[in-house]
Amino acid sequence: MPTVNAYAATSAKSPLGPQAIQRRELGPRDVLVEIKFCGICHSDIHTVRGEWGEATYPLVPGHEIAGIVTGVGAQVTKHAVGDRVGVGCMVDSCGDCSSCHRGEEQHCLKGFVGTYGATGKDGQLTQGGYATHIVVTEDFVLKIPEGLALDAAAPLLCAGITTYSPLRRWGAGPGKKVAIVGLGGLGHMAVKLARAMGAEVTVLSQSLSKKEDGLRLGAHHYHATQNPETFQKLAGTFDLIVNTVSAKIDLDAYLSLLALDGALVTVGAPPEPLSLNAFSLFMPRRIFTGSLIGGVAQTQEMLDFCAKHHIGADIEVIPASKINDAYERVLASDVRYRFVIDTSTLK
Ligand code: NAP
Ligand code: ZN
Repeated sequence: MPTVNAYAATSAKSPLGPQAIQRRELGPRDVLVEIKFCGICHSDIHTVRGEWGEATYPLVPGHEIAGIVTGVGAQVTKHAVGDRVGVGCMVDSCGDCSSCHRGEEQHCLKGFVGTYGATGKDGQLTQGGYATHIVVTEDFVLKIPEGLALDAAAPLLCAGITTYSPLRRWGAGPGKKVAIVGLGGLGHMAVKLARAMGAEVTVLSQSLSKKEDGLRLGAHHYHATQNPETFQKLAGTFDLIVNTVSAKIDLDAYLSLLALDGALVTVGAPPEPLSLNAFSLFMPRRIFTGSLIGGVAQTQEMLDFCAKHHIGADIEVIPASKINDAYERVLASDVRYRFVIDTSTLK
């Protein structure tokens, strides 16, 4: 089995470090991707630190992968050597349940195979994109259109689709007032995408420290949630609120900002349970829901939409040796707006 260089966590408490891992031999429908860039998602941090439950170590995180195809199995038809491709949060699913048939592989009834920390169909623990190469079945490999730089495209594979999917599902577009809570990796993509869809976009951030950035990214309005007046001023305003916050928030306060039949969609995944008051849902009638990444077809649709609208992530490219520092900066909300690992530094 091919051995490749990677960066791994060996426990919930220790820093990540260099680690050689093995990838499976190329099967008939497999694609070998030379990873060029991999984004750092807050989910990587939740996972390696055991915040969502016990993890298995060593664990190589990374599910925002962009690279070049360097090998294909004999039966591969969708990709060819030299193609620019991406891999997101899923590397397989059963392919045969009602969710998979609907193109909602993220809701596969047998459970999709996560890009890291999951058990693949070969029985091996999957390892993610903080590595030089990955082997993935062709159906879960996306095409990165020409015109999107690979480094700025990498975060689209998670942050992009996770925000694109609920914006589409809940009708972000002309005439709709959309608020994005939290201006981090997901939040900044949500602002760009909602703006490109034609919505009137508001950022709700903890403070006004990133206001200039928020407006540059495409927001029409920007408010600080630390200021209680924000909640009075904006009561009953929004058709859609997308919550990207990685920590617990006061759901009742955010629900109060929705108009009749407005929806609050949570994509942020704090380890602690969220709670709400039933009256927040019916005075007036409102929707509270969640959203998990997006299916393969919609991920490709999102990549094509981004190419058409010239949308990439705002990134800070780092060498692998800075991964642990980057984690601390993400936790301090000091990220503008996605760290992306240059995987050539793993060699
Ligand atoms: P991130 O870059 O750290 O952004 C999160 C933002 O939330 C921060 O920039 C900050 O924005 C705000 N925030 C952080 N702590 C806060 C607190 N205590 N109170 C209020 N606001 C706070 O993280 P990310 O990579 O965008 O991920 C965000 C969340 O989405 C994570 O929980 C991640 O696991 C989850 N996620 C879910 C899915 C899914 O499919 N549902 C997919 C990917 C990620 P401001 O500084 O602007 O306030
Ligand atoms: Zn992610």
